[in-house]
Amino acid sequence: MPSVFIKTYGCQMNERDSEAVAAQLVAKGYTLAPSERVADVVLLNTCSVRDAAEQKAIGKMQNLAADVRKNRPEVILGFMGCMAQSRGQSLIDKLPDVDLVLGTQKFHRAAEYLDELFAGRRDKIVDVTEEEASEAKIREHVLNGGGAQAVTAFVSIMQGCNQYCTFCIVPYTRGEERSRTIPDIVAECRELVARGVREITLLGQIVTSYGKRGWSSSFSLSENPPPPDTLKRELQRKSPFVQLLEAVHEIDGLERIRFTSPHPKGYGDDLVEAYAALPKLVESAHIPVQSGSDRVLKLMHRGYTRERFLGIIQKLRRVQPGMGITTDIIVGFPGETEADFDETLSLAREVGFDNAYIFKYSQRKDTPAAAMPDQVPQEVIEARHARLLLLINEIAGHKYEQHIGGRTQILVEGPSRTNAARFMGRTRSNKIVLFDGSERHRGQLMDVQVTRTGSFTLYGDPAIVNLD
Ligand code: SF4
Repeated sequence: MPSVFIKTYGCQMNERDSEAVAAQLVAKGYTLAPSERVADVVLLNTCSVRDAAEQKAIGKMQNLAADVRKNRPEVILGFMGCMAQSRGQSLIDKLPDVDLVLGTQKFHRAAEYLDELFAGRRDKIVDVTEEEASEAKIREHVLNGGGAQAVTAFVSIMQGCNQYCTFCIVPYTRGEERSRTIPDIVAECRELVARGVREITLLGQIVTSYGKRGWSSSFSLSENPPPPDTLKRELQRKSPFVQLLEAVHEIDGLERIRFTSPHPKGYGDDLVEAYAALPKLVESAHIPVQSGSDRVLKLMHRGYTRERFLGIIQKLRRVQPGMGITTDIIVGFPGETEADFDETLSLAREVGFDNAYIFKYSQRKDTPAAAMPDQVPQEVIEARHARLLLLINEIAGHKYEQHIGGRTQILVEGPSRTNAARFMGRTRSNKIVLFDGSERHRGQLMDVQVTRTGSFTLYGDPAIVNLD
């Protein structure tokens, strides 16, 4: 059987989609190739959030065509994911060596289309059409990549987004919000736990909107939903997302639950309270703020104010004082003035983020922000990015130092990716801890004493490690 190599660009959702495609192909008898040089199929799972990510994937495909394809003409080359969705046939027009273009609602068709290409029934395939219930098809997992058992897994709970932030291309590449049902998600989580997974991250572009759309037609809370009136009352009390968290929390053998990404607009008190009520829901929140200026938040169509965001942080810290809080911030959004940027700096100081992913605004074709006046010059964007990065590093550095000398619980995931001689675990507040461990520690919940810090890393003392 042929072998496949998938290269992924972009976010965790893309990582998860690639994993599901890989698992689907493995189930059909494919092997996973260690590199593109030896693979029979090379797929690039693409990202459209920034122009640089698109150019990188196009450049990579040009190299594959010039290098791999030239030496082995039988190799199949394909694009999938967000850029495949937004550019479709034009990718093949531009790069005739490409055989397959698979949109964001078509991942589950990868094996079928590759069969057709291998059998020579079709020469090229482009499929970027919408497909009903495609959100429920991303469910296969590769849990033993490289021969080792995975301790953590991502579970996709929904696809798409209806928020239409003015800078974002996701609603156009991923489509309308579509949620899987709670029983379906719980069944997938149970299966993962039965296969040895101990921590699950629930994934979606806007998880706080989970189950809010398409409720009556395609979404049902349980296999036997209560009568409509009861259902309505229940929904007023708790959002579908919190009900999903509660259902996943019930799974025996599951130790930890995380989720990403929520939206501040939908971050209700029921979700804050879930952090107090559900011990498996760890003290970690990644909440994208994007800007500290109300004026810019409005231009971005984010749907909340600085005050509302700070209110959520305050409530979260009230229920879980040790909460690790991270965020996404865009610098240089059109019209962002020095005063607006100062507001972002002051918000970062006020919150005291444990980390922040800082993005330089990138114009995306067909998004409203691309046509806005007062585009910020690139050199100003670069300078603001550098200033904010410096501040975040300083704030986070202090936060990490506070852990020195303290004990913390970690879940051991395996050897460190950057230094295979050490093992890596994660605290409940989502900080990486490196320690001198061995394979027997994999999957263990254990306490370590923090001895020092590195860049966004803690180091634990193996001498006082206590195995559960
Ligand atoms: S909430 Fe905004 S930034 Fe997030 S995916 Fe939806 S449109 Fe994009």
